[in-house]
Amino acid sequence: MTSPSCFEPLVKANTFASLPSDFYTRLPTTPLTAPRLVHASAEVAAVLGLPTEALDTQEFLDVVSGTKPMPGGDTMAAVYSGHQFGVWAGQLGDGRAHLLGEIQGPDGSFEVQLKGAGMTPYSRMGDGRAVLRSSVREYLASHAMRGLGIPTTQALSLVSARNPVRRETLETAAVVARVAPSFIRFGSFEHWAARRRPDLLRVLADYVIDRFYPECRDESHSSTAADTRISDDTSTVGDISTTGDTTTAKDYEPYVQLLRAVVRRTATLMASWQVVGFCHGVMNTDNMSILGVTLDYGPYGFMDGFDAKHICNHTDSGGRYAWHAQPAVAHWNLYQLANSLHEIVPETEPLKAALDEYEACFLGAMQARMSQKLGLSTWQAGDETLIDDLWSLMQASHADFTLTFRQLAYAPGLTQASQEQIERDLGGTVNANLLPFVDLFVDRAGAQAWLSRYSARLCSDPTQHWQERVAGMLAVNPLYVLRNHIAQQAIEAAEKGDFSEVERQYELLRDPFQARAGLEAYAAAPPAGAPHLEVSCSS
Ligand code: AMP
Ligand code: MG
Repeated sequence: MTSPSCFEPLVKANTFASLPSDFYTRLPTTPLTAPRLVHASAEVAAVLGLPTEALDTQEFLDVVSGTKPMPGGDTMAAVYSGHQFGVWAGQLGDGRAHLLGEIQGPDGSFEVQLKGAGMTPYSRMGDGRAVLRSSVREYLASHAMRGLGIPTTQALSLVSARNPVRRETLETAAVVARVAPSFIRFGSFEHWAARRRPDLLRVLADYVIDRFYPECRDESHSSTAADTRISDDTSTVGDISTTGDTTTAKDYEPYVQLLRAVVRRTATLMASWQVVGFCHGVMNTDNMSILGVTLDYGPYGFMDGFDAKHICNHTDSGGRYAWHAQPAVAHWNLYQLANSLHEIVPETEPLKAALDEYEACFLGAMQARMSQKLGLSTWQAGDETLIDDLWSLMQASHADFTLTFRQLAYAPGLTQASQEQIERDLGGTVNANLLPFVDLFVDRAGAQAWLSRYSARLCSDPTQHWQERVAGMLAVNPLYVLRNHIAQQAIEAAEKGDFSEVERQYELLRDPFQARAGLEAYAAAPPAGAPHLEVSCSS
């Protein structure tokens, strides 16, 4: 007798499959040789409604390794296009991703996707595989982001196999199972705009609105401006000022509202990235989620020493995706999305107006987050300068991004309490081996002078008691981020078959705000003289 399937009761009809077959290709995954489970996330399983016991079953390993299809599922790869490094790249698509099906979890439905489970019609020159190194990085990064409360695709499991995979050197294959309500990208829209298929573009936009942005049908705004082309970028989809389409103003309004909603979510996402020093590395339009979640972890990096021009991706020699450029790049990407929607929105002004909301939304989100990071309960005149001056000091000293904000809560002179008292009262025993705030700066005098100004500013903060302020700061300024040299330890151990370091980092990153005794090394900057790790698009 076969044991009951843990997936089958949860799997529902794959909603993405209700789209016309132009959007995807049905095909099976290609099994790996002797797959082994490196890690599975009980937390993400719970999001899907999968019991923890299911993670130890053969059925689970079979499904998340791509050995067998998900019972009740419908395996397929999706097509999309995109701009890569600012250049129109034409058709891309799920070259090594398979959508297995959709699961109805307790709080919503999620698509389950495998990355690295074999070739698809969209693989182009690729082999359809992912290596263990990059899969460990994707797995841990998505948990790090989840722990930080940043919207992201979520990794359910990581599987390793013996199959050799050729990159710069010979490596071994791995598969990450990841979940999200949808994996639709800006590039999914660009695809149909470039092909001059307003019919399919409208089907896609309606699908996204109905499933994820139903409020876009409620709001009504007038759209009156003359029809002029919104992009001066002729590399995209040509002049689409006359679509020959019969859409009426009433019909297209939801698409304008969709753009507005995506603009807002993307702006907020950028602020969340910026304030933890996260660099995505490959912000191509095909890696931008229409839901505003972090998508496709490749050569990303959490900054160690602060440098606004930090480039995490070795392949990005021009610094297009440097930390300071990310918010503007997201706006550029949204511009491409707007340009695509122009195929079904005959007027440009409403699209422009939606795009114009980006800056205020981003700045508002930054201001809210920076005040929290500094423990300011109000926003006062002079705060912007105070914060800008902190960035400048950090830049001049390449002060550690994460520790600067974390250690600010403990800086002496800001409260009557000693550091020991703060640690005792607010939990955690971590600081002993980490540099205090001022010592993070080469310009210690400058840092001290800034602290005096900050201290004076705190005196004018109306209501807060210091304990409330410090507790608030420790709840938003992480102690642990997935630094490259830390992830590298997990990779090297995993490549030797030791998965305990993946487990340790997973546990740490689940709650990156909580200090753990004995794990100071995970919070520290890379040791001086440590080899520089180069991370590239090779994955
Ligand atoms: P990425 O830079 O990882 O976002 O990938 C860009 C495009 O290349 C997407 O269409 C991917 O599916 C595809 N791709 C990347 N690596 C591979 C691979 N090893 N095999 C097949 N397709 C790939
Ligand atoms: Mg991608």
